[in-house]
Amino acid sequence: MVPMRLHIGMDDTDSARGMCTTFLAYVVADGLLARGDAFLDYPRLVRLNPNIPWKTRGNGAVSMTIETDDPDGAERFVTGMVRKHAETDHGANPGVVFLEGDSITPEMRQFSGEALRGVIPIGDARRLAREAGARVMHLGTGRGVVGALAAIGYGFVDSTAELITYRTDSMLGNPRRVSPETFRMMQEETYPDTFSSYDASTGKVLAAPRGPDPVFYGLRGEDPLTLCRASEMIPRTERLRGHLIFRTNQGTGDHLRHPIDVNAFEAHASGLLRGVVCDIPAVAVGGHASFRVAADGRTITCWAYRPTGLSGVVAGLIPGDRVLVGGGVRRASPVHPRTLNVELVRVLSLAPLVSHDNPRCSSCNKSMKSQGRGQGFACVRCGAVSGRRTTRMLPRSIRAGEYIPRVSAHRHLTRPLQRAGRTNRMRFDGTIPWFSVYVE
Ligand code: ATP
Repeated sequence: MVPMRLHIGMDDTDSARGMCTTFLAYVVADGLLARGDAFLDYPRLVRLNPNIPWKTRGNGAVSMTIETDDPDGAERFVTGMVRKHAETDHGANPGVVFLEGDSITPEMRQFSGEALRGVIPIGDARRLAREAGARVMHLGTGRGVVGALAAIGYGFVDSTAELITYRTDSMLGNPRRVSPETFRMMQEETYPDTFSSYDASTGKVLAAPRGPDPVFYGLRGEDPLTLCRASEMIPRTERLRGHLIFRTNQGTGDHLRHPIDVNAFEAHASGLLRGVVCDIPAVAVGGHASFRVAADGRTITCWAYRPTGLSGVVAGLIPGDRVLVGGGVRRASPVHPRTLNVELVRVLSLAPLVSHDNPRCSSCNKSMKSQGRGQGFACVRCGAVSGRRTTRMLPRSIRAGEYIPRVSAHRHLTRPLQRAGRTNRMRFDGTIPWFSVYVE
């Protein structure tokens, strides 16, 4: 029998009480490899629109592409694993999509782009899956079909990797014993090929979650080999089940590459605004800063929140600055219209900051007083007169360039500054231990 190519997408299997769709990918990969199915790429962890309100954590969906002699058997196995592990009793609405052959259509690519930047009704996902000839399995509302299909159709331009280690069942819910010092050393040793594992400004480990899910830690970086080396630098402080390496869009900034349609300005959309700052930013109680940008004939209010560290940056903007602002559209409230939550500011050009002052008396060095509109200025001490105000350029508190949130406020998709301009193709290398079982 000629082996068949099969794409498998999965999403929405976890809840705040436990599980993680990446762990489902781990058990599924384990079973498929045991059946003799061949992986044609690393399993893919695709982060979708980070601004949709119903995500559990990082809005991640998973897909994998295998070659198999027995697609029906593979499908039965995956569906069984989803039924067994999904947190359907606690609000998970799993969706699983199976697509045979090479047929990732342009419509599917477009759908994934929309899932990254907008909000998609479940019905659209079901319709597209049907048109593409995919088979769909779902439980609950089946909302997971959106992510499952988007993960299959995602067209990676830039990719990064994540090595995730998983806990054994008996450890679930117990605090993770992770040493900040080892993560600090690992990050220093592997920089710039890993990112977002450790926050040097607070001394906190970012790679290990705190909740009841089965992830022990996840190391993010440019390539699987570096991540294998990095994970060897982290002592195993408890018995771990194993690891899986994913191809991901984390750290690529992919959700902020496209313009937001300012006319529709749909709630929860993610993207970029290109425009000109209209007025002096306002700093509100709590240190959050807002400013208005004129873009495509509209004026959009943007908010930079204090924990992101961007409020201090945007407070330095002035009218006339040309900017690209990336972020998510916050829905309107009874007191506010829709606004943009800022996740990125690229200052394209700075307007001159000019101060117009009354002239100084050349003999007394005192500031002269205006004699009335168009009447010039006079020194109050000696009576000397002068015709005009002086003009002087003031230094700006910010420079042209890109500003992103501080690392503690990064989203999975945030592109760290060290990755600016980088496009990583990351070829699949089946000889790298991308799947590993540590204990049975
Ligand atoms: P985790 O990261 O821990 O796996 P999560 O944050 O991915 O959890 P889910 O429980 O998977 O959260 O919930 C996200 C849900 O939103 C999924 O059902 C997914 O199909 C759906 N979804 C993802 N992106 C979009 C979108 N752009 N429009 C509509 N629904 C979406």
